[in-house]
Parts: sequence; C-alpha cells; structure tokens
Amino acid sequence: MRRGMRTLMVLGVSGAVTVGAVVTAGAAPRHEERQREIHNVIYLLGDGMGRTHVTAARERYYGAAGKLNMERLPNYGAVATYAVEKDSDRPALVTDSASSATAWSSGVKTYNAAIGVDAYEKRVATLMEQAHRAGFATGNVSTAEITDATPAAQFSHALLRGCQGPVYSDASCLPKKADGSYEDKPADPTLITPIAEQIARNGTADVILGGGLARFEPDDQEALRAQGYQVLGSFGDPALPAQTAASQRVATKGDLAGVRRGKVVGLFNRGNLTVEQAKAKLPADAPQRQEPTLAEMTRKSLSLLDGRSKKGFLLQVEGAQIDKRSHANDAAQTLGEIKAFDDAVRAAVDFAREDGHTLVIVTADHECAGFNIIEKGSYTNAEAAAPPANADAGNPANNSTPSRPASGAKDPARSSGPVNGAGANDPKNFGPATFRTPDDPAGVQDGSPEASLWLSYLSGNHTGADVPIYAYGPGGRRFATSQNNVELYGKMYRSLFDTAPRGH
Ligand SMILES: [Zn+2]
Repeated sequence: MRRGMRTLMVLGVSGAVTVGAVVTAGAAPRHEERQREIHNVIYLLGDGMGRTHVTAARERYYGAAGKLNMERLPNYGAVATYAVEKDSDRPALVTDSASSATAWSSGVKTYNAAIGVDAYEKRVATLMEQAHRAGFATGNVSTAEITDATPAAQFSHALLRGCQGPVYSDASCLPKKADGSYEDKPADPTLITPIAEQIARNGTADVILGGGLARFEPDDQEALRAQGYQVLGSFGDPALPAQTAASQRVATKGDLAGVRRGKVVGLFNRGNLTVEQAKAKLPADAPQRQEPTLAEMTRKSLSLLDGRSKKGFLLQVEGAQIDKRSHANDAAQTLGEIKAFDDAVRAAVDFAREDGHTLVIVTADHECAGFNIIEKGSYTNAEAAAPPANADAGNPANNSTPSRPASGAKDPARSSGPVNGAGANDPKNFGPATFRTPDDPAGVQDGSPEASLWLSYLSGNHTGADVPIYAYGPGGRRFATSQNNVELYGKMYRSLFDTAPRGH
C-alpha cells in the first residue's frame, strides 16, 4: 500500500474506490493492468469448520448476539462438499480434505485422498500453479504439515495424500486395487513423488509457512536455496541417512520476523503446529512457544507478497487444527482454533480494506464430527440409552420406528463419546463440553453444568453437511449463493484473471 492510495481509501467507501479514481488522483499506478478490479485473492480455509462450529465459537467468544470477524463480511453463502468414488462420477457424500481441496484448487471432483488428480488419476492444473505461471506472487500457509492435504492440493499432485515424504513407499503412495494389491506405478512419476520433494522443487509458492519439517531432507533445502528461497531453520545434516529432531532445527517466529522480502520457507514444527491452547500452557522456554500464530503467519505473508508482482498475488491460509481437534472431539481446543483462524481472517480483511483490490474468501472444506449445540441439560440421541419415541397422540398414523438400530441401545461401534443418557445428570460427563459465554453470569465456569453453551459430537469423522462461505471485496458477491465446491475454482480463476478458465 502506497501512502497516496491509503489517503484515497480513507476518503472513499471501503472497497468501493475504483481504479480509475486512484489513477485520476495521480497516485502511482500500482499494478500494470489498471483495468483489473481484483489484483489479489486471499483464500482462508477453516479445515473441518461447519456452520455450527462458527455459531459455537461466536457464542463462546462474543456472546449470542456477537459476531466473529468472518461473520462481519458482507457476502454469505453455502458450499456443498461431496467427493466422488474413484474411477467414477458417482458421488461419495462425505469428502476428505484432499478431495475437497482438489475441488477448489482445480475445479474437479475426485476421490478421497486424491491430491491434484481427477477421479481417473489424471493430473489437473491448480489455481496456484496457473497464478504462478501468469506472474502472480503466491503463498501457502497452514497450521498443519505443509505437505498435508489442504496446502498440498495447491502445489503438488499425488495419487494418495499420504505420500508426503520424506521417502517413497508403495503403502503411502500407491492406491490399492479391489483385490488388495497395489496399482501399477503411473506413467507420470510426479504422481508418486513425495509431496515434500515436489514442493521443494516446483517453485509454485513464493511464501511457504507451516509445519512438517520432518517431511523434508537436506537435499530439499539445497533445492530450495538454489531457487532463491530463504530457508528458515535447518532441514538437517546431509551426512545422516535420516533426519531427527536433533539434526533438524525448526524455524521460529524470531526467524520469520527477520525476513524482510523475497521467497521464504518456514517450517515451525516437525509435525503439525501446536494448538494455541496447548501452546499457552507450555513453559515460556518450550520450543513450541516460538511457533507463530496463524494470524502472524498471515500478516507476514501479506507483507512479503504485497508488491512482489505487478500482477498481484494469490494467498491460501489454512486453519488446520479445527478439523484435527474436532476428530478428537476436543471442543475446547476446537473453539480455540476457530478463534485463532478468525484472528487470521481479521488480518486478511484489514489488508484488503486498505488495499481495495483484494478479494477475501473464508470457507471450509467439509464439516467435521457433527459438532452441535444442544439444549442445556440434554444429551444426543446417538448416545441415549433409549431411542426417542415417535408417537403422535393426535394422529397415530404418524407413529413410526426411530431411524436408528432397533436394539435401542448405545451402539459401541458408532459411539465414542462419553456415556450420556443414564449419566446425563452427572456433570463430569459434560465437563469438557460446556462453556461459559459472555452472556453468562459472573462466576460461571467452563465445564460446569451452569454454563450455557452445551456442545456435542455425532462422530469422530467428517460429515456431509454444507459449509459456510463468506467473502469481502471486489467480486465477493459471486460467492453469496449456494454453490458446489468445484465452482469455487472457476470463481477464483475469474477473479484473478478476469476471464473464465477454459474447459470449466
Ligand atoms: Zn479431517
């Protein structure tokens, strides 16, 4: 943001200042193609963040009438997230992160576990690759391993998401046939090349921040440096056959703060980054305390990408632990990670508001765990000792058998949560899943039955629920509708390139 433009933004209605007005006023032309309204796209993704995740976090942190930052954006819609079965177009109603990320990155439905390939294992171009080739600056940020499915699908291609590295194995990289044997190796060797190795060599993202250092090796660091990247920390000792925590050095937020410009790779944990609540409980000298927050990584990425290319930039930011903590049915950590993600949304919107030519999209890849807000003092039917009766005294013709196993007992195969029903009055069964909100009287504690926010999970896996989408800035209205996740690709492409992608 140049000073002259910032002054104009103050005078104009935020986001409504036209490029023409800026040029007329004599500010230095910021981008070579002045007629383009959208220069930058920031795509923020709360992994596993369903509609109710957003509601629960709003109530927890801002009260029932409050709003998260993402909810303050003017455009709101919904996204259908289903995948397809492998080698077919038949819908698989519950997606994983790999299939969903391939949908918005490349505009194709694919099978669960596929990264940057369609349902028939054909490699598909990604938006980040297309943006990079066209001269845009690019960034990919995650609180997961950077080789994990969501970031991977923008800058790698793999038949299986597990092919993260550091080394190849049939088990992690080759799909199995119906008879249990491995498929033949594909003609395109990239599709079974460890994702870390691809990322370190293809130069698709200029700014790469996240976790997953253990996926990388010293030769990856050499390859990155040869392309002009600053590599924070150390990928290890080339003399060793395999890298360990002792031979590698994770990057720190201090390292990141020292970066002023250029291409950079910062991996702040050997695995996923530490969830914010866990980080806060560690001693001050614990190495995890040196991991940046998602908001800090987002702000740094924006400062490095802004002005790097006259075209503009594409930045993807993932709050990955919302999903991972939902799988674990840890409501407290799930809520904390939604808050941390929403803080990153704030950083993106602050930038976009000042810039005026930045589209911000906030969405999710799928819902995780059937997270729900239940009535205070109640329990879910999945956990109930007896199924709910459906008897209509006014019209017995409406009576029916409950849609659950006829046994009527808690199903141990489906139900992994605390035993409710008979134990519903025992506060300790609800300890981890009740939260005070700002609306509660003083003294009401998290985990007490008096707290007003009661949360429950349906399972430890993803669900097929639609997810919310929010958008801000020029082109944001395109997203204020019910849409399919594959449509996000075309809408973002059109936003960046001001034209529709071919073949979509
Ligand atoms: Zn998941």
